[in-house]
Amino acid sequence: MPIYEYICLKCNEKFTLLQSMYPADNNTECPKCFSREVKKVISSFSCATGSKESASSSVPAPGFGGGG
Ligand SMILES: [Zn+2]
Repeated sequence: MPIYEYICLKCNEKFTLLQSMYPADNNTECPKCFSREVKKVISSFSCATGSKESASSSVPAPGFGGGG
């Protein structure tokens, strides 16, 4: 049985619930404040997105110093 993660929109409580593969309806309640305003959190285990790299060439001036 898969474990789904929820977050309460009222108290921001994060909790996990064991639900069936095909949940009938989202009658999930927050175990803390018993609010029905919860949101299912999708666990980001794999997130492959186009990576963009930007490098800026900045050469520091050598031999730059000052005696004090
Ligand atoms: Zn709550």
